[in-house]
Amino acid sequence: MAPTPASELLQRAEILSKDHKPLPLLTEVGLSPRSMIFCCFDWRVKPDEFLGLTDADSAVLVRTASGTPARNIADIAVIDKILGLTELIVIKHTDCGATYITDNDVRDHIVKHNPDMAGHLDDFTVLATTDIVKRTQQDVEIIKSSPLIRKELRDTATGLLYDIKTGKVTKIV
Ligand SMILES: [Zn+2]
Repeated sequence: MAPTPASELLQRAEILSKDHKPLPLLTEVGLSPRSMIFCCFDWRVKPDEFLGLTDADSAVLVRTASGTPARNIADIAVIDKILGLTELIVIKHTDCGATYITDNDVRDHIVKHNPDMAGHLDDFTVLATTDIVKRTQQDVEIIKSSPLIRKELRDTATGLLYDIKTGKVTKIV
């Protein structure tokens, strides 16, 4: 199976749009509190399925590399201002791609394709890890120690680990 190019997805969307039902405006549905769930964008990992998520759960689902909130702290503050977030949940998973690379691998990749970046990536990190449990704890700590997030919200941060073999979700922190 080859990845479907954007041009083809665009054609598909055009056909699907013929059955589209208009979505309500925010002014019609109102802005109500939601939880925010960070989860890895790994295509095997489907939080809608293993958490049984529906619209009734009022969750904002954010997919990031390894499910880290590290690069989305400002987004948390923005969505909290708009909706009033109730809880922050980080979900990691076993066999995550982040355990197959190192920060240096990614730095080398960038420099290979853009040599001008050599020497400018010392602070660059992708938060690669060999220990996904420890990484889960560290990601929750990133939230808990962020001054951009109000304290009551920081204190709700939870770290969960999804086992891709058993389907079980365990609370790490
Ligand atoms: Zn992953």
